[in-house]
Amino acid sequence: MKYALITGGSGGIGSAICTRLASMNFKVIIHYNSNKEAAKKTLINIKNDGGEGELIQFDVTSKRAINNAIDKWKEKNPNQYISVLVNNAGYSKDMLMIWMEDNDWNSVIDTNLNSFFNTTSSLLKDMVLNKWGRIINIVSLSGIKGLPGQTNYSAAKAGVIGATKALAQEVGRKKVTVNAVAPGYISTDMTQDLDEKQLRKLIPINRFGKPEEVAELVAFLASDNSSYITGEVININGGLYT
Ligand code: NDP
Repeated sequence: MKYALITGGSGGIGSAICTRLASMNFKVIIHYNSNKEAAKKTLINIKNDGGEGELIQFDVTSKRAINNAIDKWKEKNPNQYISVLVNNAGYSKDMLMIWMEDNDWNSVIDTNLNSFFNTTSSLLKDMVLNKWGRIINIVSLSGIKGLPGQTNYSAAKAGVIGATKALAQEVGRKKVTVNAVAPGYISTDMTQDLDEKQLRKLIPINRFGKPEEVAELVAFLASDNSSYITGEVININGGLYT
């Protein structure tokens, strides 16, 4: 049985990814930071559907916290490795740059970009040694197009896109693929304050996306069927021009 770690499994998109990967017989490691209740709820639903999973907690901005949590997991699961990593945890703090404080910039870079390095570097060696792995980074339309009010978030997500392309070239020979998924507007807590009625006029499919739709794409990238796709950024945005 293969293990898949989904960071931000307590959030809207993360929870849908956990559920979908569990339905493919992955044993899912549902990560949360502060919202244990939401992660637990996802785990209960997965188990009720006959899937397998467990919870893990860490702050993605702390390399030490991640290494502690992963070391503990490895002690409990000798001879196993986590073969799928979905770097999904994220956070935005929107502000026009003229008003942006140092902390607004740094916290968004830490949570969305440095988190990629912190988490991936703790699992990469095992994937390379075992000659199979999938790294899937949830980025954003904002990292491709750039969105006003999001210089911090656009920079962080664009940084992850660059890292995706570079790392894909480092580990392709070892059958480890690295791809990014770039959602547009998806209905979750992160977008709950946005005016969907107005924004959907810009979207050819004329609605926000659902977390389950993103999960379906991640499921494909996590599977053996995607073995010749690496270093790609795949948009999932209802046709919103990027
Ligand atoms: P949610 O707000 O629903 O979930 C965010 C998740 O990130 C939560 O599980 C949260 O954990 C976790 N998280 C936040 N900060 C930290 C931290 N410091 N350490 C560990 N975990 C943390 O957001 P979405 O599900 O919408 O977003 C998921 C991903 O998709 C993000 O990377 C986001 O940038 C990206 N995205 C979302 C879009 C959308 O329209 N919704 C569009 C484009 C990209 P907890 O709650 O347990 O603290």
